[in-house]
Amino acid sequence: MRPSDVVVIGGGVIGASVAHHLLERSPGLGVTLLEREGEVGTGATSKATGGVRHQFSSEANVRLTLLSYPYFAHAETLLGRPVDFVRHGYLFVTANPATLEASRASVALQRSLGVRSEILPPGDLKRFLVHLVTDDLVGASFCEDDGSADPHGLLQAFLGIARGRGLRVLTATPATGILTAGGRVAGVLTPEGEIGAPVVINCAGPHADALGALAGVLIPSKPYRRQVLVTEPLPSLPEVFPLIVDLDTGWYVHRQGRSAVLMGGTDKDQHPGHDTTVDWSAFGLVFEAAGRRVPPLADARVMRAYAGVRDLTPDYHGILGAAPGLGGFYVACGFSGHGFMHSPAIGRLMAELVLDGRATSMNIEPLSLERFSRGGTATEANMF
Ligand SMILES: Cc1cc2nc3c(=O)[nH]c(=O)nc-3n(C[C@H](O)[C@H](O)[C@H](O)COP(=O)(O)OP(=O)(O)OC[C@H]3O[C@@H](n4cnc5c(N)ncnc54)[C@H](O)[C@@H]3O)c2cc1C
Repeated sequence: MRPSDVVVIGGGVIGASVAHHLLERSPGLGVTLLEREGEVGTGATSKATGGVRHQFSSEANVRLTLLSYPYFAHAETLLGRPVDFVRHGYLFVTANPATLEASRASVALQRSLGVRSEILPPGDLKRFLVHLVTDDLVGASFCEDDGSADPHGLLQAFLGIARGRGLRVLTATPATGILTAGGRVAGVLTPEGEIGAPVVINCAGPHADALGALAGVLIPSKPYRRQVLVTEPLPSLPEVFPLIVDLDTGWYVHRQGRSAVLMGGTDKDQHPGHDTTVDWSAFGLVFEAAGRRVPPLADARVMRAYAGVRDLTPDYHGILGAAPGLGGFYVACGFSGHGFMHSPAIGRLMAELVLDGRATSMNIEPLSLERFSRGGTATEANMF
């Protein structure tokens, strides 16, 4: 098969953003994107609920959102099409004083980086949703600039522009091997033949660890099922309110569109695997947590439920960088449930790495593959 300057493996939102940013910086570059399924965007990206937030506990995660945010807030200017961004805010509530102290520290960090987040007392929370039970709460953190957008729209926007700049997209074409020579990557093996390339970028999402193994590169991200439940219309609730996370149970509610509400997040302690069968028994906990925090949700009727797979790392930070020991092999995976919102930044940083030899828009050392052998990055606390 025709050789390429760069092969991007994986046609999700991360691979699309990487391809877009490479070609935006270097329009003459030969970039090939391989997707094993018949269409792009059928992996984790198709299951993402579209949340975009600044409220993280680590500087690296906050900076990734800050770098990405213009693509949501100003999508029409930057990408030529909207991605349906709604700035509804995220509200993290807790009944635990120690958790509130941790939120206070996170908000201080966020604000030092320019984020408009704040700590609010329980008495100030019903203005967001009158049905919210606040009696037991000690406080909350809120950021009005958080919101949600359309993952598929963002993926198509990236790919549309990149195709116009010469991106070759090969669907139904799995990477089945990584070719190497003299300690460097030399290309990719597919059922259709070999594609010679000096640079190969692993954007295989929840399959990135398996793809890394083909190259002899150990990638400590693992796939974990994530379930989402969609209710029938709930006219008793306002059409727009913040995405609310109960930090004590991991439960969240996300108003989507006019009618549907997504509730989940009590399932992060599953075993790793790619199974996306819906486990209906797990929704008992979801309804219990929902009924306690927003009582009208206890009577909600379920319209549908689905499950996807998130690639989680031990410290809940993504992995971005060159693979040590194999020149030309790069990794962008393990985004721990934040890959959609961070995809614009990841594409930009990967383009800097590949084209300039180092990332300049932010310090990506906390995201490096080597961090795991050096003691790691402090675990992201705002996970649900
Ligand atoms: C239920 C759920 C809700 C989520 N909600 C949010 C949210 O609110 N906000 C947020 O930011 N993130 C969210 N996420 C996480 C987000 O979906 C992911 O972080 C993001 O989509 C990852 O994109 P990706 O391109 O890395 O992976 P994917 O979209 O999975 O793309 C990887 C692609 O690689 C392909 N592939 C794999 N192996 C090979 C191979 N050998 N050869 C060729 N192709 C291959 C796959 O077929 C796939 O299409 C959620 C995830 C789930 C499951």
